[in-house]
Amino acid sequence: MKNPFEGKQIWFLTGSQDLYGPETLEQVATQAKEVAGLLDSADAIPVPIVWRPTLKDRDAIRAEMLAANADPDCIGVICWMHTFSPAKMWILGLAALDKPMLHLHTQASISLPWDTIDMDYMNLNQSAHGDREFGYIASRLGKARRTVVGHASVPAVQEKVGTWARAAAGWDCLHNLKLARFGDNMRNVAVTEGDKTEAEIRLGVSVNTWGVNDLVEIVDAVPEDEIDRLVATYEDLYDVVPELRKDGGRHESLRYAARQELGMLSFLEAGDFGAFTTNFEDLGGLRQLPGLAVQRLMGRGYGFGAEGDWKTAILVRAAKVMGHGLPGGASLMEDYCYEMTPGKEKILGAHMLEICPSLTTTRPRLEIHPLGIGGREDPVRMVFDADPGPALVIALSDMRERFRLVMNVVSNVAPDAPLPKLPVARAVWVPEPDFATSAECWLTAGAAHHTVMTTSTTREMWDDVAAMAGMEMAVIDDRTNARAFQRDLRLEAVWHRMTQGI
Ligand code: MN
Repeated sequence: MKNPFEGKQIWFLTGSQDLYGPETLEQVATQAKEVAGLLDSADAIPVPIVWRPTLKDRDAIRAEMLAANADPDCIGVICWMHTFSPAKMWILGLAALDKPMLHLHTQASISLPWDTIDMDYMNLNQSAHGDREFGYIASRLGKARRTVVGHASVPAVQEKVGTWARAAAGWDCLHNLKLARFGDNMRNVAVTEGDKTEAEIRLGVSVNTWGVNDLVEIVDAVPEDEIDRLVATYEDLYDVVPELRKDGGRHESLRYAARQELGMLSFLEAGDFGAFTTNFEDLGGLRQLPGLAVQRLMGRGYGFGAEGDWKTAILVRAAKVMGHGLPGGASLMEDYCYEMTPGKEKILGAHMLEICPSLTTTRPRLEIHPLGIGGREDPVRMVFDADPGPALVIALSDMRERFRLVMNVVSNVAPDAPLPKLPVARAVWVPEPDFATSAECWLTAGAAHHTVMTTSTTREMWDDVAAMAGMEMAVIDDRTNARAFQRDLRLEAVWHRMTQGI
């Protein structure tokens, strides 16, 4: 996957005013450059932080915000009031700003010079009240933002800025995302439906459908030598079962899976798509339901949803971008079966085929098995267990007048016993706070059976991206109790309806 942070930047904006005179303003600029430099060089922040000249009046502030909006490389702004910057000057600028914003509440120096502090020092270092003035106007304008408090040299502060920067990159990616649907949704399914127009309004994502036979033409035209090379790659990377190997009886099925992967990749690249869906009910001239091809494409960073589920495909793509470079991965996931024995409760998740290998550090097996659904030839698929460790599952539901994200904090665990007869990649997890509360809350929230499972992104990244999009986010974690969760859902419903106007 191409580095999604490459070429992107975050602007570091310092607020002040002309009142202080040139000497103080020069110090403000020097110190702001140092603060921006601390953030820019922090390993936890994957996007360059670019210092911009101090903002001292209303016209300059507005012009800067319009410039941030207009620059496709700028994915967000960090604001810091080094001195007092009267906030009526910020009204027009903040109202115009349509990029994500972080309010950094910091100071140039980490410690107070108790023995030497004088009025000159006090005059220069006023963020303790300058930022309060700024917070007031941002709140009065209802401006969505992340507020981070602390010195820029402190790792925990850098981590928080880094988290927000990743969310801003997710936000930027969604606004550039084109999603190709091969066929429509699975017939009669409710939760995979949704308002594609609203998705473009809220998230900037363009969701459109192509006839699957447009894809079939490209798949059928893939040259044999490209297939030879990809099959050799499969043999390098995976344990290929004997029947699929070159001298095996079903090698042709593996070659067709490689043909599908190459055809789909070239379709997606030609259209500059970052995510896609398939539907087993609408395979046209495809000879297999794409299994291995979809797994490999998710592994390359594409978002994917099965059965036409474009909403989950968006989440998978966002997770790929926000978690880029971090350990772990992201995949389509589906809640399948339960271990319900009291004290041992677990969820077994998988899909018919399409689980991304970024969830494992083990070497997947390539296998072929019959698939009762879809009425096509037996599909090739990777089989593996997701690595144990912390994970999130997140679903996106269309609640008619808004989108609702629901997240469950979970722990992936080893299966209670090997699963020798289960011919698909899978994950087994224990949900927070406990199985019954998790499932009760999930069902109460109307959250979907399709999710993104992510082991690379954090709850805070999704909180930030939800805030950027003005989307509801309901979290089920170790502190959740069902009654309070239900009350929160009702409050969120009121809040979201009110903020949309009547
Ligand atoms: Mn499904």
